[in-house]
Amino acid sequence: AKQSGGNAVHFFEQSMNQSAFERLVLENELRDAVKKNQLTVFYQPKVRMNDGVIAGSEALVRWNHPTSGLLSPGHFIDAAEESGLIVEIGDWVMRAACEQAADWASHGLRLPVAVNVSAMQFERPGFADNVLEILEQTGLSPELLEIELTESTAMRDPQRVIDQIQPLRDRGVKFAIDDFGTGHSSLSYLTRMPFDVFKIDQSFVRSMSRDPHSRAVVDTILALARALKLKTVAEGVETSEQLAALREEGATLAQGYLFSKPVPADEFESYARASIAD
Ligand code: C2E
Ligand code: CA
Ligand code: CA
Ligand code: CA
Repeated sequence: AKQSGGNAVHFFEQSMNQSAFERLVLENELRDAVKKNQLTVFYQPKVRMNDGVIAGSEALVRWNHPTSGLLSPGHFIDAAEESGLIVEIGDWVMRAACEQAADWASHGLRLPVAVNVSAMQFERPGFADNVLEILEQTGLSPELLEIELTESTAMRDPQRVIDQIQPLRDRGVKFAIDDFGTGHSSLSYLTRMPFDVFKIDQSFVRSMSRDPHSRAVVDTILALARALKLKTVAEGVETSEQLAALREEGATLAQGYLFSKPVPADEFESYARASIAD
């Protein structure tokens, strides 16, 4: 049996291209990552435009890989999506982020946390019940949880999205459209969806200073949000020039390397406490 096992591996190496083989290895390692407690959550501050105070965070998953070190989602999120492991990983991140935010709140740091939810995780029946259960078990106030759905997830089956988020919104959970402006949705449809926040995609923020078209897209999203009385988060803010332009146009919050990269929980906590004390 040992012999044929070795042959099987050899067979795979020869018949699959290198990247397909690597993908297989990656998927197997990822399958164990949750069980072996190798995942961790980093937090990136969201900063209030008018006074620079940290007003919340986005939870972003990281993988402490046994040999490769700390991996960003770019290295494994596609494999997680394709293998379906994203559901288990997403549940784990949701619970970890809610636990963390509840712990901060019980120590006087009452800040909302935003969690990314992928289409596969969101569309599973029982998603809303599962989140409500996590909120109850962790003791996090529902108003302190924000769920980020990408524009494409939100528009795959709009009626289903509305049905799925309603019980959570009724309890006070907030919803954000992530990567706003990158999909191909009908604007009028998008504005009818029950969302609380638009997150302006970093591609527009990055090019807005040199490209008038990007600047126009950003201005239009901000005007739309104002008219609909929604909040806005500008993502990927890296320069004070971008910050000045976004502030002038009235974005609510900014997130980006100009303030901080995503950092471990304790580091985020010290930044947040310092920013509030200032
Ligand atoms: P996203 O939701 O659009 O998250 C923002 C990404 O932009 C993060 O990358 C963040 O580190 C990065 N970023 C923030 N500010 C800047 C900046 O100023 N400049 C640049 N160049 N980048 C900036 P990260 O952490 O590598 O995550 C990448 C993507 O992976 C996320 O994009 C999200 O789609 C996905 N992801 C991360 N965590 C989770 C998760 O728990 N569940 C799911 N389903 N997806 C996740
Ligand atoms: Ca996000
Ligand atoms: Ca985004
Ligand atoms: Ca993105």
